[in-house]
Amino acid sequence: MTKPSYIRVIIDRAIHRELDYAVPEGLMDRVGIGSRVRVPFRDKSALGTVVAIAEQSEAKGIRPIEAVVGEAPILSEQLLELGRWIGAYYCCPIETVMRSLLPQVIRRAEIGWKKQLFVQPGGKIDVEDLEKLRRRAPRQAELLDAILRLESPIRAAELLRRTSLDNQTLRALVKRGLVELREEAVLRDPHADEQFIATSNLTLNPEQTDALNEIRQALHSPENSRPILLHGVTGSGKTEIYLQAIRAALDRGQTAIVLVPEISLTPQTVERFKSRFANVQDAVAVLHSHLSEGERHDEWHKIHSGRARIVIGARSAVFAPLKKLGLIVVDEEHETTYKQEEAPRYHARDVAIVRARIEKCVVVLGSATPSLESYNNAVIGKYRLVMLTQRIDEKQMPLMRIVDLRQERRKEKAAAILSEKLRAAIADRMEKGEQTILFLNRRGFSTSLLCSNCGEARNCPNCSVALTFHRHPAVAGRLSCHLCGHTAAVPKKCPACGQDALIYAGFGTEKVESTVSQIFPKAVVRRMDADSMTRKEAYRETLRNFRTGKIDILVGTQMIAKGLHFPNVTLVGIINADLALHLPDFRAGERTFQLLTQVAGRAGRGETSGEVFVQTYTPFSPSIQFARHHDFAGYFQQELEFRERCDFPPFKHAILITVRSAHEGRAKLSAETLRRRLKEALANSAEAVPKPEAYSAASSALKPSRLRNLRPAAKAGPQEFILGDATPAPLEKLQGQFRFHILIRGEAIMRLSRRVRETVDKLPFPEDVTVTVDVDPYQLL
Ligand code: ADP
Ligand code: ZN
Repeated sequence: MTKPSYIRVIIDRAIHRELDYAVPEGLMDRVGIGSRVRVPFRDKSALGTVVAIAEQSEAKGIRPIEAVVGEAPILSEQLLELGRWIGAYYCCPIETVMRSLLPQVIRRAEIGWKKQLFVQPGGKIDVEDLEKLRRRAPRQAELLDAILRLESPIRAAELLRRTSLDNQTLRALVKRGLVELREEAVLRDPHADEQFIATSNLTLNPEQTDALNEIRQALHSPENSRPILLHGVTGSGKTEIYLQAIRAALDRGQTAIVLVPEISLTPQTVERFKSRFANVQDAVAVLHSHLSEGERHDEWHKIHSGRARIVIGARSAVFAPLKKLGLIVVDEEHETTYKQEEAPRYHARDVAIVRARIEKCVVVLGSATPSLESYNNAVIGKYRLVMLTQRIDEKQMPLMRIVDLRQERRKEKAAAILSEKLRAAIADRMEKGEQTILFLNRRGFSTSLLCSNCGEARNCPNCSVALTFHRHPAVAGRLSCHLCGHTAAVPKKCPACGQDALIYAGFGTEKVESTVSQIFPKAVVRRMDADSMTRKEAYRETLRNFRTGKIDILVGTQMIAKGLHFPNVTLVGIINADLALHLPDFRAGERTFQLLTQVAGRAGRGETSGEVFVQTYTPFSPSIQFARHHDFAGYFQQELEFRERCDFPPFKHAILITVRSAHEGRAKLSAETLRRRLKEALANSAEAVPKPEAYSAASSALKPSRLRNLRPAAKAGPQEFILGDATPAPLEKLQGQFRFHILIRGEAIMRLSRRVRETVDKLPFPEDVTVTVDVDPYQLL
């Protein structure tokens, strides 16, 4: 039998190639697909991952590997396949994909287990020795006595703390052979000091029972099942279904992943999962961005070794190295935090679907406001749609009241922050001892400093946005840029015209907080946004105080929009619903609809029903009107029509290419050249593709005027791909870089990705020009 003695390796560097190496006799047993190896590369050595094993290799000048890193392969063949799919789909080299597939702490293999010293009595201790010790070294004797009394080995540090004796004394005992020290790995568990009491399954209502049965059935025959879209209004008991579905998977000897958007990875959520499975030792591993490297190492190995059977985490948890994966849950599947905004620019929900296909497991997408993409997939039958239409205990959906700020403005000049109606509602809640949430998706005090004489705004020198004025201590009384962090002093006079005519315009959460405090001096008002929550503990603390009723009014950004339950909140005020609507982004309407619906879901989760005030200058916009009536299907229909008319997702895939440089001319020229090459490449590949059946929905809905700006600039080839012009990005300048966009749309995304990749790779761009390719983009600025 010939032994395989060559391996193919992807090294951790962007060389866009896989390399063959020979494996010395002695190492072959330890190498498998997914193993990490150290290999010579040029005149250095590099770490890499084994992706194939072969008996032969055609490559010339093959060199042997230097070492095998770690004991077992760290990447399964399925995960490797997933990685290859990500590379092809998201137009990204496999080495870059590896960076997401494996956490850095695992790739580098520099951090190991945390070792601690444990103390136990030495081999033989006789009475005489002890007597001698008592006379000559009483402290050592005292320590030894303490050790002899131990029932089990104890951490050295703990022992010294308990006995108030020092390390020197311990070392002396070790030297005499009376005591032994042993090194043992201990887990760095971020939740080690918390106790969880096991909770049991709740009795499901009929809708929940049906939903759970659907999932159970899918678990039974995953090869015949489609992804399940669980569309359930806020508070309809989706999480309870996830918990019971996971239990069902565990009972079948399988494992499960639960993805949650980072923003809702609150202590509350983690607690709910940890408690439900508290009986199963080490059952739940938690992965999120606040873990230390050491904690991440331990959680990862806990999963990889098979001890943890449920992984709950943000985006990257979709790569958790679980075996026998039975179920992946993607909670709040519409959340844009699932999209990674650096290469590989993957969307965790879509990766979850592909992983489920590869591993033949069940995937459940849950949301109160499914994304248009997922909902459309359910409509056309790719996904199975399961609905929960009732809130638990049949609680009413909150009453939505629209406040037309145009009218309020006429009545009273300063009404823009709190309309009369909202003010009255807050006063009413204060009287009843109920709580209020005020929501505004914009930080800072004043959002710009304008000259009332010449009209100049203070802009960031590095970015094409206005500077925001803050009162917050970190940047107190200064102007700062939310994009690059640049700060500047507030000028006394307008630097442009020299007049003493500067005024503050626009407002953010800081201003809301201070205005509310002025109007309601007795209220305890707190603010929750990225500025006020810089301390890790601040977030938990504020939530705790809000829950226990120490805070009357909570003002915040999207941080408070989601996933939180506060039974005593009966009023939610949306200070300005129009903020997202006017962004040059085809998802602007969808985001506004989702945000309103989610924020509204925060009201009335307890005994009293809730009320939501939506302040807006565009009261008749469909996102606001449909949200007001909790009419998801209606909204979905009109939005789909709009998307189809404009060839936007979900009808076409989009690829956004950004070309940037500190030199405006070079960025522009490179973008234009790239566009020309793309046009040639796409024209060559054009094959006539029939247009899909038009979406047949009632066409009574609005004809948005924003369509005009979004119309394609030029069409390339016979309709297969739509190639936009190279245009300045809406955010023209960011962190000192000028930015140009090229937007391409088409249906055959894999082919389109490949063409784009080939074209970009072939072009020799100037050194200071950076080109990024974003497939299925969410950031269009
Ligand atoms: P969602 O995830 O859809 O927002 P949750 O699962 O968080 O909903 O449920 C909302 C509340 O209702 C939670 O407090 C939960 O404990 C409770 N709940 C869920 N299902 C049931 C049930 N079958 N019986 C009683 N209470 C339930
Ligand atoms: Zn800036």
